Amino acid sequence: MATTQRVLDASEIRKQFPFFQPHPEMRSLIYLDNAATTHKPYSVIEAVSHFWAHYNANVHRGAYGVGAKASELYEGARARVAQFLNAREMAEIIFTRGTTESINLVAYAWGRSQLKPGDEIILTEMEHHANLIPWLRVAQETGAKVVVWSITDEGRLELETLKSLLSERTRMVAVTHVSNVLGTVNPVAEICRLAHEAGALCLVDGAQSVAHMPVDVQAIGCDFFAFSGHKAYGPTGIGVLYGRREVLENLPPFMTGGGMIRSVNWDRIDWAEIPMRFEAGTPPIAEAVGLHAALDFIDSLGREQIEAYEHELTQYALERLQEVPGLKLYGPQPDRAGIFAFTLEDIHPHDIATILDSRDIAIRSGMHCAHPLGDRLGQKSTARASLAVYNDTEHIDRLVEGLHYVRQVFGYAG
Ligand code: PMP
Repeated sequence: MATTQRVLDASEIRKQFPFFQPHPEMRSLIYLDNAATTHKPYSVIEAVSHFWAHYNANVHRGAYGVGAKASELYEGARARVAQFLNAREMAEIIFTRGTTESINLVAYAWGRSQLKPGDEIILTEMEHHANLIPWLRVAQETGAKVVVWSITDEGRLELETLKSLLSERTRMVAVTHVSNVLGTVNPVAEICRLAHEAGALCLVDGAQSVAHMPVDVQAIGCDFFAFSGHKAYGPTGIGVLYGRREVLENLPPFMTGGGMIRSVNWDRIDWAEIPMRFEAGTPPIAEAVGLHAALDFIDSLGREQIEAYEHELTQYALERLQEVPGLKLYGPQPDRAGIFAFTLEDIHPHDIATILDSRDIAIRSGMHCAHPLGDRLGQKSTARASLAVYNDTEHIDRLVEGLHYVRQVFGYAG
């Protein structure tokens, strides 16, 4: 893998992460559960702790110096996210607790105010529950209908199928950028274009894409884009909803309370402008500061470089996983992201994960919050390994060795 080493050097990158440094009480781990959450570089941890130590104050209200500084840092993080996603302006960036809250915000604020009986929301069969349950619920409440866009046997979405589902009844197409099970990278720009041609809006769930490839919301042309800080080397408790101004401006709030109104009396409430209208209560301030540092970390490596590096590592993993007898890999090949859901013989995925843990390899097992996809695959539970920029070929080699060992433990030959 000489070329991979030339693009980025994972062993150098790991030096930026305290989690990967030797620790007397902790075993060093081959961490392959990055689709669940990523580790945090020193720069993120230090930015958060520096905030708590020196600038802690509530935002948007303090007349004193530290209060103004906290507001400046919080709004600075918003400007950084806007630049990172190439939003037209920072008012289009709303801070939430994560992807889940971002999508709930859209389902409640937009869905409840706009949907009526007979309207349709198109969802794909590969959606995470975060982009599924809020829509099922708002459909139940409003009388709208959820229309399912099926995947191919290979685990892809076909645009021809979407065309056959779109109609004047379609109001929203909500789709994941990258599947957290199949690793499929969806053609979101084309999907948004088709949605718009039909007069619908388009929401993209970017939880699994934003840390792994360049993302430009204007190039995608989406109306909404959601992601979580903790899957992008940032803190938990912070997420982003990008919304196009023309859409956001016409929406009522999701949650209400302090900081989101212009004026209120017993008879009348005037909502604040965007984005404040959607940020009721004290926001996650230190977490926003940490997210800012996480985006700086990503850009310090370069998003094209990260994409190229992870692509090569993915190709290597695809080749090596094929060597394991009885391993069934889900999702398309070879063109996919570094998320590998698989089964091994008839060994329960929890057993696979537990035995790998005994060899200091961390993967996930279960249904990955995508029950309808599990039904479609006929496989409720799978094991899943997922890559980040600090992984390298040695980690894949250790995984493959570990899987051979799992087979041996269960008495499979070879
Ligand atoms: N969407 C996708 C595709 C995901 O993989 C996840 C997390 N597994 C989410 C949404 C939800 O993210 P969070 O739990 O950070 O809100």
